[in-house]
Amino acid sequence: GVRVRFAPSPTGHLHLGGLRTALYNYLFAKLHGGKFILRIEDTDQTRLVPDAVEKLENDLKWVGIIPDESPLKGGPYGPYKQSERLSLYRIQVKFILNMGAAYHCFCSDRRLDLLRREALRSRQIPRYDNRCRHLSESEVKEKLEEGKPSCIRFKLSSDEQTFDDAVYGRISYNIALNEGDPVIMKTDGFPTYHFANVVDDHLMNISHVLRGVEWQISTTKHIMLYRAFGWKPPIYAHLPLILNPDGSKLSKRQGDIRVENFRNEGIFPEALLNYVVDAGGGFSKDTERKSSKIYSTPELAQQFDLKAIKPSSCHLSPDRLTEFNSYALERKLQDEKEILKLTENVKTLVTRTFQSRMESENLQLQDKYIVSVLNWSKNRITTLNDLVKDELAFLWTVPSHQNDVMICFYVSDVLQDIKVQLSTQQGTEFTKDHLKIILKDFSIKTQFPFNRLMKLLRHAVSGLKEGPGVAEMMEILGQTSTLSRLDRAIT
Ligand code: GLU
Repeated sequence: GVRVRFAPSPTGHLHLGGLRTALYNYLFAKLHGGKFILRIEDTDQTRLVPDAVEKLENDLKWVGIIPDESPLKGGPYGPYKQSERLSLYRIQVKFILNMGAAYHCFCSDRRLDLLRREALRSRQIPRYDNRCRHLSESEVKEKLEEGKPSCIRFKLSSDEQTFDDAVYGRISYNIALNEGDPVIMKTDGFPTYHFANVVDDHLMNISHVLRGVEWQISTTKHIMLYRAFGWKPPIYAHLPLILNPDGSKLSKRQGDIRVENFRNEGIFPEALLNYVVDAGGGFSKDTERKSSKIYSTPELAQQFDLKAIKPSSCHLSPDRLTEFNSYALERKLQDEKEILKLTENVKTLVTRTFQSRMESENLQLQDKYIVSVLNWSKNRITTLNDLVKDELAFLWTVPSHQNDVMICFYVSDVLQDIKVQLSTQQGTEFTKDHLKIILKDFSIKTQFPFNRLMKLLRHAVSGLKEGPGVAEMMEILGQTSTLSRLDRAIT
């Protein structure tokens, strides 16, 4: 069956590039009824970040990508952290040494550094000169007995390697032209990425490797390792680069593209996934995509098709993200369970933002009110965070009219009159269309200019100079709150 993995190095946060890789692996597994595995590649002990694994699994969980096997969850092929698999790599290193496909290298850091500098000086690609490959068995034995530190290197074959990439087609590359024999186990007993990656993909029975195209060249090296072991390599599908709209590389603006960042900005997970998929390709029924605005993860999985991924780099279009977020909100508002969740989120957000003002005014947040605000505002906002911006703060707090120059003696009479008018309306008639008529009539009857009246009322109910329509604001606030705000503006 299909077994795929997401194999990040825990060097910090999940960002859009990693999210795309994780998502595509996940969708591929779901599509084929296979397993999705999270494996942590933490063999580079110098680059570890505390709590990185927990943060990563949390970010994945937030977007709904739940691994079938992972460090936290465990599974039949564990452990799932490479730093806990050292004994397994040692066994395989011994094996490959015995086969004669790898060798001990005793070159000192100093020698390697000299080589590197010499190469740079003569404008050549720095690479190891494979000197220790040619040590005799007795020389190796002697050095080992002396206790000389050594690493293990893999013998690269000097001919071109070819493999079929499920996205890019046939790839041929002669890696030995540009690299010396690579280290597979360091002096400290830790394997390098290439070695651990191959050993684990094999031991974990991985059937397909979907990963960023930046690993494509390394794949030829990985295939040599498989051959040396006599193992069958998985099927490789490399995913094209994702670029910023301006064509620059994503990693250059890391802060902007962290999943955590989008979450804090109020982006919904579905919107983020659709955004990534929209840029990344891989969906055969593109025509159908136009008919529905946003897809859930199971819907995405049904449409996912490796063959539809194009090898050319793809670009993000940030406008699409806000669009997707509005669609996601729209869709959620049609689902009772989602409405409950949204209500809780809004409550938290509003309380956090306006806590002190709400307490001093003794305001209570009613669920029913929040739900009507959500429906009222769905076309005005793209994220829930927009609900607490200045422009919509009137929804949650009463404007303060202290030292108000606008409400002078003369206009306060007008406000008083309109208040009386509004208080005689039935609560059920407090709709924007009906209110518009009343306000118009009032202006005609009293000959108080309509524009001025609107300005005045807007200020009285929201404290704003501009924003949503006056009747709209009154409708959402409701009769009681509108009247009490008018009252407060007058006195
Ligand atoms: N640890 C590698 C990374 O951080 C994994 C690459 C692969 O999927 O093979 O991207």
